[in-house]
Amino acid sequence: MYDCIIIGKGPAGISAGLYVKRANLNVLIIGKDGGTLEKTEKIENYYGFENPISGKQLLENGLKQAKRLQIPIDTDEVVSVEYKENEFIVETRNNEYKSKTLILATGSRRNIPTIKGIKEYEGNGVSYCAICDGFFYKGKNVAVLGNGDYALKEANILSKTASKVTILTDGKDIVENRTEMPSNIHLETRQIQSIEGTKRIEDVKFKDNSSLKTDGLFVALGTATSFDFAKKLGAIIKNNYIEIDENMRTNVPRLYACGDCTGGLLQISKAVYEGAKAGTDIISLLKKDNNVEK
Ligand SMILES: Cc1cc2nc3c(=O)[nH]c(=O)nc-3n(C[C@H](O)[C@H](O)[C@H](O)COP(=O)(O)OP(=O)(O)OC[C@H]3O[C@@H](n4cnc5c(N)ncnc54)[C@H](O)[C@@H]3O)c2cc1C
Repeated sequence: MYDCIIIGKGPAGISAGLYVKRANLNVLIIGKDGGTLEKTEKIENYYGFENPISGKQLLENGLKQAKRLQIPIDTDEVVSVEYKENEFIVETRNNEYKSKTLILATGSRRNIPTIKGIKEYEGNGVSYCAICDGFFYKGKNVAVLGNGDYALKEANILSKTASKVTILTDGKDIVENRTEMPSNIHLETRQIQSIEGTKRIEDVKFKDNSSLKTDGLFVALGTATSFDFAKKLGAIIKNNYIEIDENMRTNVPRLYACGDCTGGLLQISKAVYEGAKAGTDIISLLKKDNNVEK
């Protein structure tokens, strides 16, 4: 039985793991892939790096740091979580683990569109975060894929720096009232055929064979919806994010959440902070348990 299991090996999960492990507790981190950082081209707003660092490199650094402290990391997908008889049961594709506490650090799941070319240009013009990457498109033409509140919000952020922003609804009706759109936000409702380019994205090709020149495409389809683990365990979710207190505790005893899955500022600094908070709170909680047992 583990003292603590962390689902997610991104900045939030690894940060939590570092604290728990350094207090000599028995911790396991489970993560299926590189999460959001894998899609991040370059980061220049995180403390301590003189030059921009790629998301992949920062992720690697975190994993190596955890490895050095001998934190076990299981690269696998968690398929089920349950709370039974005072323990969390975490089931992956290949194993089942038990733990006294559980931290959800699974990031905010985003809807990935199936349009041809999108996956290929991730990190090379295709982005999922206007506040993170908008600055790199200053004075350029950008497009936002989506048709709801989220797409409009991303377009609004981009409109402050880009010269032209086009919302691509891919044949769907826009959910929002167009009159609210600033004049440099355009609406394009034609159906998309593919995303084209050489090294980076250059054009959005429509099904009627016309095309739109663009330097960047921001995906803003729907909102993060699936917090199955939290829901399964009875944690409160508000506006698609897991509700937590100042110590990253959810309403479910011994269940914590940190990082992008709790909403707010979706940035690495906040994920690292929340991981640290969750980790330190678990240390005090388990210390109290031990004193009671003695
Ligand atoms: C394009 C882009 C650019 C960005 N640029 C910046 C930037 O410049 N600066 C900045 O500060 N932030 C930036 N961000 C945001 C930043 O990447 C996130 O805020 C940060 O990675 C969140 O960390 P996290 O640990 O909460 O989640 P993530 O990094 O998403 O990690 C989630 C982890 O959960 C795991 N996971 C999820 N579901 C399961 C499951 N079922 N089973 C097992 N494991 C699971 C994933 O495999 C992953 O390991 C950017 C984001 C994007 C998308």
